[in-house]
Formats: sequence, structure tokens, C-alpha cells
Amino acid sequence: MSPAAKNGLMLAVLVLALVGAAFFFKRSGTERTYPDDPTLATQWVCVKCGKHYSLTPSQYKAWLDSKDKVRRDPNFSGRIVVFWCDDCREFQVVRAKVDRATGKWLPTSDAAGNPIPVNADAGKTEGQ
Ligand SMILES: [Zn+2]
Repeated sequence: MSPAAKNGLMLAVLVLALVGAAFFFKRSGTERTYPDDPTLATQWVCVKCGKHYSLTPSQYKAWLDSKDKVRRDPNFSGRIVVFWCDDCREFQVVRAKVDRATGKWLPTSDAAGNPIPVNADAGKTEGQ
């Protein structure tokens, strides 16, 4: 193989690698999907009235991207997502964990975004 052919081949390999990398990054950036699949739904509960919300990934994304469904005030850390409750007309809806034993929907944070530790005892101490 002549040096020129060798260089040409190296260049072709390099270009292919770059195109492949660009394609990969573009793909991974846009491939994230939010299916409207109830089996993938996450549980959310209103801290104030206890209303349950099951959000499919596409509903969650729609709320997250909306201007009025998700809490975005300057005093809020924003690390924990708090959604709008239609019944209370307030930002009170937080991620819930469903207790398998009792079937209760337990909030994992308060409306201010402070995490609430959820454990097996949470159901027992409730209502005391
Ligand atoms: Zn509510």
C-alpha cells in the first residue's frame, strides 16, 4: 500500500468515527421518550387534600414543561418537584410512595420541598 493510500484510508476511518460519534450523541439527546403508558406511571399525592395523581411519563413531562402546573418560585429550591393541585388551587402535589401493607399514598416531601422520610412506621404513627 502506498503512503498516500494509507493516509486516505486513515482519513476515511477518522471521518467515519466522527460521523458515528456525532450520530450517537444526537441520537442519545433526542431518543429520550416519555410514553403515555399507565404501567410506567408515578404516584403523586396532594399534601393538603390527599388527592391522588397517577402520572404517566408523558403526563409528567407535560406538567414539568408547563408554566402553571409546576412550582417555580424564587424561594423554592426546585430540587424537588411540586405540582399544582386543581382542588386546593395551590402547589401541594408531591411524589408519593404507596405503602403496600396499608395501600396508603405517603408523601415523600412537603409542599415546600423538604423531604419526608417514608418508612414502614409512617402508617402506624399517622393519626396520633
Ligand atoms: Zn389538594
